[in-house]
Amino acid sequence: MRQIKSFQGVRDYTTCGWAKGAECMLKKQPANCDWCERFDHFFVKRSESKKENTMHVICGGGGFIGGHLAKAIGIFSIRAVDKKPLDQWYQKSDLHENFCLDLSNERMCQLTCDKADVIYQLAADMGGMGFIERHRVECMRSVLINVHMLEAAYKAGVRKYFFSSSACAYNIDKQQEVTSAGLKESDAYPANAERGYGWEKLYSELMAQEYVEERDMEIYIARFHNVYGPNGTWRGGREKAPAAICRKVAEAVITGSNSIDIWGDGTQVRTYMWIDDCIEGIQRIMAEPLLVGVPINLGSDERITVNEIVDLVEGFAGVKLERRYQLDAPRGVVGRASDNTFIKEALDGWAPSTPFAEGLAKTYAWIFEQVKAAAEGRQVID
Ligand code: NAD
Repeated sequence: MRQIKSFQGVRDYTTCGWAKGAECMLKKQPANCDWCERFDHFFVKRSESKKENTMHVICGGGGFIGGHLAKAIGIFSIRAVDKKPLDQWYQKSDLHENFCLDLSNERMCQLTCDKADVIYQLAADMGGMGFIERHRVECMRSVLINVHMLEAAYKAGVRKYFFSSSACAYNIDKQQEVTSAGLKESDAYPANAERGYGWEKLYSELMAQEYVEERDMEIYIARFHNVYGPNGTWRGGREKAPAAICRKVAEAVITGSNSIDIWGDGTQVRTYMWIDDCIEGIQRIMAEPLLVGVPINLGSDERITVNEIVDLVEGFAGVKLERRYQLDAPRGVVGRASDNTFIKEALDGWAPSTPFAEGLAKTYAWIFEQVKAAAEGRQVID
C-alpha cells in the first residue's frame, strides 16, 4: 500500500479520473482508482497545515482567466482546480496546490471547498461563438458546477465567493443592431439570453443571488465582456475573435498566404477587455460590499468591429490580406457592448480602460510565437 508520505513533496496532484479523460497521476490508470478515498484524507491534512493563511480557491485555474488570476494573487495560499490534465493548464505555479478535478461532481466540489476562505468560480465549458453555438448541451451542463460549488461553499462556511457570469446572459433582442446601445445591467430582463451558454449563466446568477438572500452568503457576480490576452485559447475551436484573427494573420505571415477567412460580414460589434483589467476588476468588485448579490458588467466600452480587429492585426504584422467573408459561419448577435455607467458609480470611477490596440498588440506577439513554435514542431501552450 502506498504511503501518503511519499507524495508530500509533490505539489501537483491528479486524483483518479473523476476528471473525464484524465488518468490518475499516482497510479497511471484511468478513472475511479482507489486513490479517490485516500485523496480525501490527504487533502484534509494539507488544508489543516494551511489554516493560518487565507485560502483562495480558483475553480477553472487551468484556464485563461483562472491562470492569470492565480498569478496575480500569487503570494497567498492558492488552490487551483481544473478538470484539464495538469500538463494542459495555460499557467501553473509550483507554489500553489494544483488539482485536476471535475467540478460537476458534488464530492469534488466538497473537497475543493474544504477549508477555503475565498472562492473564485471561473470553471465552465465555454468558448467563442463557434463553440457555444454548436455545443449548447455542454455549455448548459456547467450548471452542475455552479449548483454543487454554491452548496459546497455554503456548507464549508466560505467567506467570499465570486461567480463569473457573461454578457451572453443579456437579452439578445437588445443586441440586434450594429448601433445597439451598450448593455446596462437591467437589460438581462425580461430574459432572452443567448441559447445554451447564456441561459446557464443567467440561471446560475439567480441561484447565487438566492444563496445571498436566504443563506446570507457574500457572493459577487460579474458579467464579463469578451476577455482577451496571452496565455489563453488561440486554436482548437474555443478561441474568440481576437485570438482567432491573430492566429489566422500569423499563419498567413508564416506560410506566405495572402488571404484570411472571416466569420460573418465583419461588421459585428463587440467590446473587448484586456486580461489585466479583468483581474483588477474582479479584485475591485470583491472589495465593495455594496455589490454583494448584484450582477455588474466587467468589460471595456470601446466598440470594435471584426473588420477593425483585422485592420489592427494586419498593421502589427505589416501585411494586407484578401478578406474572404464566410456568411454562414457562426457570428452571434450583431452588436454587443458594455455600458459602464454602473461600474463607474460603484467603483469610484474605475472601469476597464486599456485601449484595445494596446492589448491586442501584446496578444498578437504572443500568438505569433505560438504559431511559429507550432510550425517548427516546438511545444506550444494549448
Ligand atoms: P477557459 O475555458 O480558459 O477556462 C475555463 C476552465 O474551466 C477551463 O480550463 C476548463 O477546463 C475548466 N472547466 C470546465 N469544466 C470544468 C469542470 N467540470 N470541472 C473543473 N474545471 C472545469 O475560459 P476563461 O476565458 O478563462 O473563462 C473563465 C470564466 O469566465 C468562465 O466561467 C467563462 O464562462 C467566463 N467568461 C469568460 C469570457 C471570456 O471572454 N473569456 C467572457 C464571459 C464569461
